[in-house]
Amino acid sequence: RFAPSPTGYLHVGGARTALFNYLFAKSQGGTFIIRVEDTDIERNKAESEKMILESLQWLGMHADEGPAEGGSYGPYRQSERLDVYRKYVDRLLEKKLAYPCFCTSAELESKQEKSKKMGLPHVYDGKCRGLSDKEIADRKAAGDEFAIRFKVDPGEVSVDDIVQGRVKFDSRLIGDFIIVKSNGFPSYNFAVVCDDHEMEITHVIRGVGHLSNTPRQILIHQALDLPLPAYAHISEIVGADRKKMSKRRGATSILFFRDLGYLSDAFTNYMALLGWYPDDGVEYMSRAELEAKFELERCSKSPSMFDFFKPLKEGEDDFDPAALSRTELQKYINNKSKLNWLNNRYIREVDFETVWKLALPYIRQDRQLVNILKSDEEQLRRAFDSVRVYLDTLADAVPYLTELFKTDLKVDGDEATALLKEENTRTVARNFMQVLAAAKPGTPEQFSEAMKEAGKLSEAKGKHLFMPIRVASTGSMQGLELPMLFSILGHETVIQRIRAITGVEAE
Ligand code: GLU
Repeated sequence: RFAPSPTGYLHVGGARTALFNYLFAKSQGGTFIIRVEDTDIERNKAESEKMILESLQWLGMHADEGPAEGGSYGPYRQSERLDVYRKYVDRLLEKKLAYPCFCTSAELESKQEKSKKMGLPHVYDGKCRGLSDKEIADRKAAGDEFAIRFKVDPGEVSVDDIVQGRVKFDSRLIGDFIIVKSNGFPSYNFAVVCDDHEMEITHVIRGVGHLSNTPRQILIHQALDLPLPAYAHISEIVGADRKKMSKRRGATSILFFRDLGYLSDAFTNYMALLGWYPDDGVEYMSRAELEAKFELERCSKSPSMFDFFKPLKEGEDDFDPAALSRTELQKYINNKSKLNWLNNRYIREVDFETVWKLALPYIRQDRQLVNILKSDEEQLRRAFDSVRVYLDTLADAVPYLTELFKTDLKVDGDEATALLKEENTRTVARNFMQVLAAAKPGTPEQFSEAMKEAGKLSEAKGKHLFMPIRVASTGSMQGLELPMLFSILGHETVIQRIRAITGVEAE
């Protein structure tokens, strides 16, 4: 089961947990269940559940049972299961394995402060553990608020984890903990145990951050005489600087990646490799292959790196890249990430009709392209087919296609105008046109060669070669990688463009 709390959007950490649950269920012929853990009413956010479910939908993780699908173990929202928890609390109270606690939050906070000052972990001191039945009845009659605590006796609790191995915990560091809050809602650790049992969950697969909760859950299972599920705590995901995930390190909503033009299958393939590796070492895998090959035993304990963004710079504060425009965002994206490599491979290898359909919403964002779509869709389709090998994301299709269909070759800005007037620019332009006319290059590599050749003839190198060629052929100081652009335009169009922009003629 995947058990998200609706307290925010789904980011790559949560989505990867969902995916490992999903893949494990598929690989075993099992059932994939979504359970919404919404008992923390102060932290619940209204839109969150909808966004989480939409993200899972986009990623193709369709649940066999869940709040939208229903199923015979429902309801699938914890807030609708309060009677289930009541049944189990009553059992624990009856067996004297749990007790009402009347300590106020002010009292508990001050004790917590004291422990902190002494550098000790905070453990409940058991003040209400010894209250007599009469005392309890009196305080309840007086209307005092209370929570229910679970009794934890000193001892050792060990967790046998499929990924982490055997991990031991000292229960004295846990102490009696709350299982029902004073507002009547169950605590996370308690609700999870009741639901995992009632829903016949066989495997609990979740982030390693929950490992320290597991001894609490095991103690409750034991107190209620319930069999334990198998546990698998999967490795942490860190940013490119190997630090804890944050927004700038990629912990933004999954839908952000969808909107940038990553393919659901590529993103899924990428996430599967965050903490798991197939035994044949082949990283490019279809959904069906992932479902067949996934093994919990091959999950790694060490953190996996989400390298979509470049590492944070010294002194750079965390911020939300999702709030930036696409152009601003480019500065922070690592173009060489495995995600980009995979996405490019999907865009170039998926059958044309599928990828064309996925690209259309991006293409429709540009007015000029919409017009071409109306007047000559076939031409646009052919152009898209020829540029798709260069695209890291579907959104990248727009700058390529607009450059390709550019009819107005206006010079863009003062810098470009000034550069066009320089003698060196005119020499480079003339020589480049000559090389193009003679060599008739076709591939990006051949265009690179032609540029170098023009450099030799003009005795120009580096930016004194590339910038003149860029401005002479596009009218602009920045844009797509030139050899790629040229190979799409074809050498004759490049010559025509240079002639139109510079007014220079090849000799
Ligand atoms: N609701 C918990 C969370 O969102 C799930 C933990 C679990 O899978 O047991 O972190």
